[in-house]
Amino acid sequence: MAAISMRNITKVYGDGFPAVNDVSIEVADGEFIILVGPSGCGKSTLLRMIVGLEDITSGDMIIGGERVNQKAPRERNLSMVFQNYALYPHLTVYENIAFPLRLRGATDSDIKSRVEGAAKTLDLEEHLQRKPGQLSGGQRQRVAMGRAIVREANAFLFDEPLSNLDAKLRGQMRTEILRLQRNLGVTTVYVTHDQTEAMTLGDRVAVLRKGVMEQLASPRDLYEQPNNLFVAGFIGSPPMNFLPCSIKGDTMELPFLTAPLPAHVASRLTGQDLLIAGIRPEHFEDASVVDERKRDRGLTFEATVDVTEWLGNQQYAYILYDAPPEVLEHLAELDKELDGESLRTQMVVSLDPMSRIRDGQKATLWLDPARIHLFDPKTGLNLTKRDGESSESGDGSDAIGSSVITDGTGSGSTGGAHSLTADGGTRRTN
Ligand code: ATP
Repeated sequence: MAAISMRNITKVYGDGFPAVNDVSIEVADGEFIILVGPSGCGKSTLLRMIVGLEDITSGDMIIGGERVNQKAPRERNLSMVFQNYALYPHLTVYENIAFPLRLRGATDSDIKSRVEGAAKTLDLEEHLQRKPGQLSGGQRQRVAMGRAIVREANAFLFDEPLSNLDAKLRGQMRTEILRLQRNLGVTTVYVTHDQTEAMTLGDRVAVLRKGVMEQLASPRDLYEQPNNLFVAGFIGSPPMNFLPCSIKGDTMELPFLTAPLPAHVASRLTGQDLLIAGIRPEHFEDASVVDERKRDRGLTFEATVDVTEWLGNQQYAYILYDAPPEVLEHLAELDKELDGESLRTQMVVSLDPMSRIRDGQKATLWLDPARIHLFDPKTGLNLTKRDGESSESGDGSDAIGSSVITDGTGSGSTGGAHSLTADGGTRRTN
């Protein structure tokens, strides 16, 4: 196992566009890092540069303390698992797992103990004599992981390993990958465009956009302290609401409410009178079910609910609002980058399932203004984020307002105080 240092890594393809642009990430030995971002952001290119399947235009790739830029994939001793399993159909599960060991000339007894060990870890013992065609998608994915395990590689590299599986299996395999990574303690870099995978699997997550790393942080920090509009919009489901916010003296006016402008945000403004406010759906509540002690901390306002969705354990209300054209323009651009459906000017509010708010009703809603993020529409920067503060370090309660395995052959063919408060909306505690 080894640490991976990516230092100022750039990749320029023939057309001159930097698919990866000056990215630096230090992956500690045993750490689980996620590369996430919309299609075309450069995450697969970066992964392929780690494993050696893509030349590095500039920068240093250091694995286990050694610069590997010029090293062939097989010399890097990394295991890569791709999205389509590409197992050898004519070989049994046993032989598929054993394959990299046979290439290396391992002895039969060594192969036997390692394949059986991996099969035990992956719960594949009963299937060792079967062929891949007789396995389910999840089992095939486990065989692919078995191959990666037996190689005792310096690191695991995953490229969207679960995207071919149905939603339920994806959830199960996600947990298995996490368990496996924790048990083996192996350095792992995992590419996905799925933010649920990013948030649940990674120790840290690198969010990429057009080749540039927008933020590298723990899932919790990304969620609670996004650097900018892009990260804020990408992380979270349903996504953060973006609303126009007019600055009038020391107050901020949103479509449904007016709240005091936090002093430290006011000091950062350089003449902007229109900002974009970001509020996560779960930070609203039906005012009639808000705890008395909590109610005074926030503001209540009225809004007409367009439609509601009741999901049993959760309920969403959609509220339409108007936004000035300049805000709409920014939001439309952002939506395009996030691969979104065309963005309607509607606010999504998560309500307690007990709430009796129904379609077409005027509802009284509650919000703690401390939960509001404010973004500069021009730069996209989060003005509410305090420099150097991490929501990891405190309780935040003072918030303001194929699966191809490369086998190392390189062919890869076969196969702030202004953070959000801690009592809501976070997905992960470790
Ligand atoms: P996806 O999730 O769609 O696979 P990605 O984030 O993994 O996307 P990459 O495959 O790394 O993105 O591609 C990053 C950019 O580099 C894209 O604009 C892509 O078109 C471009 N690109 C990738 N491979 C090549 C290539 N061989 N030649 C030229 N451009 C390429």
